[in-house]
Amino acid sequence: MSKVQLPNTKLFINNEWVESVSGKKFKTFNPVNEELICEVSEGDKADVDIAVKAAREALENGEWSKMTSEDRGRIILKFADLIEKHKDNLAQLETLDNGKPLTASKGYDITQSEKTLRYFGGWADKIQGKTIPISNEYTSITRHEPIGVVALIVAWNYPCMLLCWKLGPALAAGCTIVAKPSEFTPLTALYLCELIKEAGFPPGVFNLVNGFGATVGSALSHHMDIDKISFTGSTITGRLIMEGAAKSNLKPVTLELGGKSPNIFFNDCDVNHIAQCAKDYVFANSMQSCCAPSRFFVQENIYEAFLQIFTENIKLLKVGDPNVNGTNLGPLVSKQQHDRVLGYIQKGKEEGATCHLGGGNYHHADGKGYFVQPTIFTNVTDDMTICKEEIFGPVVVILPFKTVDEVIKRANNTTYGLAAGVWTKDISLALNVSNKLKSGSVWINEYYSIMPSIPFGGYKQSGIGRDLSEYAIQSYLSVKAVTIAH
Ligand code: NAD
Repeated sequence: MSKVQLPNTKLFINNEWVESVSGKKFKTFNPVNEELICEVSEGDKADVDIAVKAAREALENGEWSKMTSEDRGRIILKFADLIEKHKDNLAQLETLDNGKPLTASKGYDITQSEKTLRYFGGWADKIQGKTIPISNEYTSITRHEPIGVVALIVAWNYPCMLLCWKLGPALAAGCTIVAKPSEFTPLTALYLCELIKEAGFPPGVFNLVNGFGATVGSALSHHMDIDKISFTGSTITGRLIMEGAAKSNLKPVTLELGGKSPNIFFNDCDVNHIAQCAKDYVFANSMQSCCAPSRFFVQENIYEAFLQIFTENIKLLKVGDPNVNGTNLGPLVSKQQHDRVLGYIQKGKEEGATCHLGGGNYHHADGKGYFVQPTIFTNVTDDMTICKEEIFGPVVVILPFKTVDEVIKRANNTTYGLAAGVWTKDISLALNVSNKLKSGSVWINEYYSIMPSIPFGGYKQSGIGRDLSEYAIQSYLSVKAVTIAH
């Protein structure tokens, strides 16, 4: 493994690296050993104003605004090529900053980032309006124009990938961008800036202002000259973003928020198969995933066998240094997240649930790092905190159920509605249940199939709008109807 190359850590505006107006910096830490990685320029409202101005100029008068959609697509595809070329370094940076296993950073996060840009690069010259023949005297045509300057604010759990999910459709639509990564994981987005420049995006198309939610994030959501905001993060922050949009220029919002996803196993399942499959996906990213399958509903006839085989399999997972091959769970991203998850585990015990496996800190060699063991709770009731709230850590609750109607009701008994899994050999049952689940994604006999061409987003308080697929592009476009009398 080659030595990781750190990115420039200033703000990136107009294709230049610049210091923040205040000159302030914040620190980013390695969650494996709690050591400082580097200091990063900390933006504020004044920097947001400068970045928005650059993005506005690029949108209205810059080279980008005069480019053909084909050329736009070509640059996006070149950007995807560069991500592929720099995959090793990007993956190492992601693991360094976030703590996820290097195999996942490389095989999933960075690979998905590249694939997403490739998908949307292909869309750039296929965005078309319609002709609406009103009568012999009138024809109306629709023009699909870029919505304008967009702000992209993302979370720390898939830092590079979540940004690329939004960059792809925004760039394909012809928008210009001001992005703000999470203050916990600023590094891969900074590294992308050089690739943006090398790919040939003109100055001002992509601008990056690192900093905190309460300052940079809030300035973006309240900004009068930003035309749309696309956000991935918690439901609490989503509300603040929407409030900022409502109180300023009523900019539209796309919100990708939290989840408490049910994963339902019916009696006819092959228990060995489903328990083995579950081992491979349930603790992915240490369940720091918005669609983590945190509530397992298992039908009564297979409950005992499932619990036994699943537990045996989970015991095989390795917690430890994310840079070591074979590690399944690295540390959680930060001390805050680590303490929050342990707080939920404690709460589960206090409320009377049985901690069937795990349930504590995992002590790495030197006692450092934000590790938590994979944890399974049983004897959980639907009203317990660990069954209702998003934990965002490696904690799964196993809940027995009897009937189809019962499990649909209980699965839907949440304020969230992001994803769900249904496992059965009976495809009619699977489709009927999936129709009744209030969830943006339903996976049947699998979990976590997320691809650039499949829309992703939430029902209820899991969000508004969709990332990925052609549905995402629509949200970065304004439709203009031009009606001609002839
Ligand atoms: P968070 O809401 O704390 O932060 C997300 C981003 O919002 C960060 O960049 C943060 O700096 C910024 N922010 C914070 N306060 C802000 C404010 N007042 N105004 C504007 N921006 C602000 O979330 P997090 O802890 O980084 O991420 C975890 C959450 O993200 C979980 O709830 C998870 O479910 C959700 N998530 C959702 C999806 C999805 O696609 N639905 C994907 C990944 C993560």
